Amino acid sequence: MLLPMVCLQCEDPLCQEACPNGAIIENEYGILYVDSALCIGCMNCVTACVYGGIAIDPVTKKAVKCDLCSGDPACAKACEYGAITLVKREPSGLQQRRRGVTPAFRTLRIQIEEGQE
Ligand code: SF4
Ligand code: SF4
Ligand code: SF4
Repeated sequence: MLLPMVCLQCEDPLCQEACPNGAIIENEYGILYVDSALCIGCMNCVTACVYGGIAIDPVTKKAVKCDLCSGDPACAKACEYGAITLVKREPSGLQQRRRGVTPAFRTLRIQIEEGQE
């Protein structure tokens, strides 16, 4: 089973709160990104994010997350079905995404527990 785990660009980001080194930064467009020069690879952000939106790069040992490709998402360009669109962050949209993510995680957990991953 393939399940994209993409950062929700939270308004109150638990990853940023958990970072001891100020490495998760919000740019002028409200996009959260990792400053790899500041990241010490402690994984606090990974354990803090309940959506699986951030991980440690096994090669660089630094945190990596979706930064919306600085406003020009490569995933949207790559999807030939037009299923990915960059839209302005709205509270209602964020709630909808969270409502979608929660059952997906629940299903994934059940499948893993039953050995169906
Ligand atoms: S990495 Fe997780 S906690 Fe941080 S902004 Fe993305 S979804 Fe929110
Ligand atoms: S891994 Fe990097 S970005 Fe994540 S909490 Fe640690 S220093 Fe911050
Ligand atoms: S291609 Fe860019 S916008 Fe799409 S998930 Fe990856 S980092 Fe985010």
